[in-house]
Amino acid sequence: MLKVSLANILASDTPEPSAEHDLSLILRANFNRFLLFAIAFFTVNTLFYRVAGDPGYIPALSLFTLLTLIGFWLYNRQKASMFRLELTGYICSTLLVFNGILDIFMEYRPIKLMYLLLLLPALALTAVRLKVSLIASLITISGFLSAAWHFDRASFLDCVWVAFCGSVVGIALSTIIRSTMLKALHAKIAADLHRDQALTLATYDSLTGLANRRAFLTEVSTHLAQPQSFFLGLVDLDGFKPINDIYGHAAGDTVLTQVAERLRQTCGDTAFISRLGGDEFAIILYKPQNSADWQVCADAIVAVLSRPYQLENEMAHLSASLGSTFRAMDMEVTASRLLERADYALYEAKERGRGIAVLFDRTHEDLIRATKAVEQALRAMDGQKELTLAFQPQYDIIKGKTVAFEALARWHSDRLGVVPPDMFIRAAERSGLITGLTPILLEKALQVAQDWPTDIRLAFNLSARDILSPAAVSRIVDVVHASGFPSSRIEFEITETAMITDFSQAENGIKRLSDMGCRIALDDFGSGYTNFSHINRVKVDTVKIDRSFVLELGRNDRAMKIIKSMIELADNLDMEHVIEGVETETERLQLEAAGAVNLQGYLFSRPMPETDIAAYLAREQATTTAKL
Ligand code: C2E
Ligand code: CA
Ligand code: CA
Repeated sequence: MLKVSLANILASDTPEPSAEHDLSLILRANFNRFLLFAIAFFTVNTLFYRVAGDPGYIPALSLFTLLTLIGFWLYNRQKASMFRLELTGYICSTLLVFNGILDIFMEYRPIKLMYLLLLLPALALTAVRLKVSLIASLITISGFLSAAWHFDRASFLDCVWVAFCGSVVGIALSTIIRSTMLKALHAKIAADLHRDQALTLATYDSLTGLANRRAFLTEVSTHLAQPQSFFLGLVDLDGFKPINDIYGHAAGDTVLTQVAERLRQTCGDTAFISRLGGDEFAIILYKPQNSADWQVCADAIVAVLSRPYQLENEMAHLSASLGSTFRAMDMEVTASRLLERADYALYEAKERGRGIAVLFDRTHEDLIRATKAVEQALRAMDGQKELTLAFQPQYDIIKGKTVAFEALARWHSDRLGVVPPDMFIRAAERSGLITGLTPILLEKALQVAQDWPTDIRLAFNLSARDILSPAAVSRIVDVVHASGFPSSRIEFEITETAMITDFSQAENGIKRLSDMGCRIALDDFGSGYTNFSHINRVKVDTVKIDRSFVLELGRNDRAMKIIKSMIELADNLDMEHVIEGVETETERLQLEAAGAVNLQGYLFSRPMPETDIAAYLAREQATTTAKL
């Protein structure tokens, strides 16, 4: 545990040493060593030193001094305090001086005065304060001079001079040593503080006070080195970027601080929480024992993070996705592998609709392996040769004719054979390779569309990555220009993922496409995370109502009402609509009753190769003519 809190560090730049206690610690070590020498001396003195004519006063005082010294040694060992050290200093110096005086008094010999003189520097040096050093010197000098009293005047004056010199030397030495000690002490305290500061800043996130990425990785490695089970989770906020874009970075910081606080409160002591960077947080959960326990925890985390956030003047609404993985006690796994799994689960959580938690399992493991193989094949493929397109009509049931074809990518890999679009598009999106595939596919689609009647549009899917990268948008613009195909007959289908990831960047990309005259459709509308402000802020021409609503049609009445209100919403905002995934005649009739106009789905046609389009349109023409 770090000794210095982040708040302390941020509050003061200069270290403020708590000198009194630390000084007493250092001085005590010094002083007790002196006491030990004195104890050794008085043990020998008590046992062996005898003076003729002494009835026993000297050994008695020596023994008393010895016991007092031992007592004070223990007293100081108990606790380091300046008061204790000072008290010890006064009493012990007095006793030591008394021993010398008694000895001289019992048997006077001039040389014995040396004993008192020797005490002068010794006591001055070991004194814990200048005050003590002065008083000890005064006591010693008084003893010394009282013993020299019966010398002749000249010798006595010599003694005064010697005593004076002795005390000056003692006090000077004591002052120098104590100031050196103090300097060393301050330097040590400052170094400790700076070390703690550096350690704190290196391991803590300064905005939220949570552990940072480095501390998190250290923690994971520590747990992996032990037979310990835990859940590792990655949390990502959905819709955080728009908060930064719309309300500014200070608002973003407020949200992040609140997220940290909510995580602390929800996970408590049974978790290690950290901020990896941006709006990404990581949690190690120790408490859940199985996936059912985990689900409870995970749901609580997602729910608490999805509550509104109080900004200065308004509330911000966002949600959070959680991807998690389990480390069993006996599982041999690296930290990066665990993170990769949690990240995979997080990606899926985001894809499934946001605001949910996903736990990595066996099927994900298989998928990762397959995705890696797909990714490798994607890197090595010849896009021109291996990629093709299938086209699915969008049908206007009022006019009774096809108004557009949606181009859907198909890949017949030389290595892997036919790879389903869901799989390779997902792999290409994750790896970023999609931005290389898009221009190839678009060029092919535009070439096919050149042959269509002029009232039929081309609908083309773009990924979030295409829209978010200005370079990718430029390539798309170039392909459209180079094709000579009227841009007003192109409709780019974009899912909301792009807008949630980075709204202003997405807005820029979309604007460049619509400025060129292309139409914009919001794909998979209503599935998962939907925010009407997106429709408001970018120019959307069409909403493609997700297939999931059509699937609900047969199951409950509400689906019908929801579809109806979505169609009305589109009408009110001057947007067209397309309802995806219509498979049966019953669905078609229900949708017609709900006011639907444009439908797409297997009922009209499955996606077809370009070569079938002419025949399909001819059949459609024939039926319309027959009806007339
Ligand atoms: P999407 O854009 O939602 O395309 C519609 C998907 O629904 C297509 O799947 C289509 O075959 C399928 N579908 C159409 N009608 C029905 C129906 O009546 N019932 C059912 N069950 N499904 C229907 P597909 O071709 O497998 O494409 C899957 C996804 O892959 C697309 O979903 C789109 O997100 C992506 N994708 C396809 N081509 C491209 C592309 O060129 N670029 C990008 N970025 N993504 C693409
Ligand atoms: Ca689409
Ligand atoms: Ca769709």
